[in-house]
Amino acid sequence: MPKIRTTRTKKPPEGFEDIEGILDDYAKKMRDAENESHEGKRKTESLWPIMRIAHTRSRYIYELYYKREAISKELYDWLLKEGYADANLIAKWKKPGYEKLCCLRCIQTRDMNYQGSTCICRVPKAQLRAGTIVECVHCGKF
Ligand SMILES: [Zn+2]
Ligand SMILES: [Zn+2]
Repeated sequence: MPKIRTTRTKKPPEGFEDIEGILDDYAKKMRDAENESHEGKRKTESLWPIMRIAHTRSRYIYELYYKREAISKELYDWLLKEGYADANLIAKWKKPGYEKLCCLRCIQTRDMNYQGSTCICRVPKAQLRAGTIVECVHCGKF
């Protein structure tokens, strides 16, 4: 008897099982952050935990593929397609000088010519004074 094939569940590429646990963890944290009470918080602030998790997860996948070369191109493309990482953000990280970009808004505001609001992610490390902590106004990173 031939097996009945269904197209309902598409199998992820090889290697996914190795990182599935970590991705599940991110998904759980994301759900928790979304369900958290937003009472008493500014609207942008309530989005920070969600953006932080999305950032960390994108970074994880970026490093798996580009730095550690631990996953295949096929798996990497699949993860982007499935929304596990922000392809736009990763595209920026690949450019010199943008490796630390915390969120896309940081370069969008610069394009819109907001003066005096350069986020820490756009400041070269050498120019940072020790002990200075600057939070990104968009995503709360750093
Ligand atoms: Zn930034
Ligand atoms: Zn940011």
